Amino acid sequence: MDGAPYLVRYPAMPPPEVKMHLRERRGGMWRFCEWLPLGSGEAPVSLGEGGTPLLLADRLGARYGFAALRVKEEGVNPTGSFKARGLAAAVTRAVRAGAEGFVVPTAGNAGVALAAYAARAGVAARVYAPKSTPATICTQIRSFGADLVLLEGHIGDCGKAARVYAAEVGAVDVSTLREPYRIEGKKTLGLELAEQMGWTLPDAIVYPTGGGTGLIGMWKAFQELKAADWIKGALPRMYTVQSTGCAPVVQAFDSGADCCTAWPDPETIASGLCVPGPLGDRLMLRALRESAGAAVAVSDAALAAAAHELQTVEGIDAAPEGGAALAGAVELKRRRLIMAAETVVIVNTGAGWLYRA
Ligand SMILES: *Cc1c(COP(=O)(O)O)cnc(C)c1O
Repeated sequence: MDGAPYLVRYPAMPPPEVKMHLRERRGGMWRFCEWLPLGSGEAPVSLGEGGTPLLLADRLGARYGFAALRVKEEGVNPTGSFKARGLAAAVTRAVRAGAEGFVVPTAGNAGVALAAYAARAGVAARVYAPKSTPATICTQIRSFGADLVLLEGHIGDCGKAARVYAAEVGAVDVSTLREPYRIEGKKTLGLELAEQMGWTLPDAIVYPTGGGTGLIGMWKAFQELKAADWIKGALPRMYTVQSTGCAPVVQAFDSGADCCTAWPDPETIASGLCVPGPLGDRLMLRALRESAGAAVAVSDAALAAAAHELQTVEGIDAAPEGGAALAGAVELKRRRLIMAAETVVIVNTGAGWLYRA
């Protein structure tokens, strides 16, 4: 199908012995180079992305009755969000293939990441974002020298403009799932989690979902780890959290559909979750169902309050999306889809300061 996502397949995955080398390597996602689309001896376009902490959140765990609540703290990535992982991989491969310009439609953070990695590669970047994008995120995109175009409408409208621009000037479009390498970069989130938990996986992972690269990437990582015999035990249940102001994946999951219906009039302060018609809908819904997970929506008021709690109770500068993960985990526990004794990881996908004026 034209425009449908495609994923990278490797002829063979690295054998468990490669774990030995991992321990000797210094930080960052490229420690997992055997799992990534990187030729031997090839240097990635890197700003030190990945290698983020997995923090115990005991105080919030006690407050909400989780025996083991952990936060994968992605806000400390270069450019302040986990978009760094995907864009580092995508820019690395595109530059290698001769890219002379980049373009991305974004709800915000992918634009910051592309701007920085394009600058790192010495290549120009154009970013299309909605007018509603938080001001600090816009400032960051411009700071890295990208050409930012703000449009009426949502990320889907920006995507159309990006495709027109790419066709006109020959820029490489690094939109979510229109090229396969952002997923490979996001995969390292799953690889790191497995390593940080001693090559077992948590019972549940709660992930604030927009375009879905994180969810699809982690699930791909876990499948590959299992196939390569690197991990013990069961795969985690994967949970999507969205805002009640834009919840196409939740709606599709609950209605048993295998694809999303575009969400009309999307609106949420968690701009990363404002993706009304995700291209990776089938892949996401498959991951949620195969893993025996689910999808829940929380209100903007609830996700903002939860982000504030992560900040004040745990000292973690959560983005609104990270707040959504916490609020979602609490809701899933209330519905008894997650139990008190289970190990739970919530992903704080970005830094809170990017959303403050
Ligand atoms: C992009 C983004 C998300 C959503 O990630 P997807 O991979 O598109 O599902 C969540 N949180 C933040 C902070 C983001 O920037």
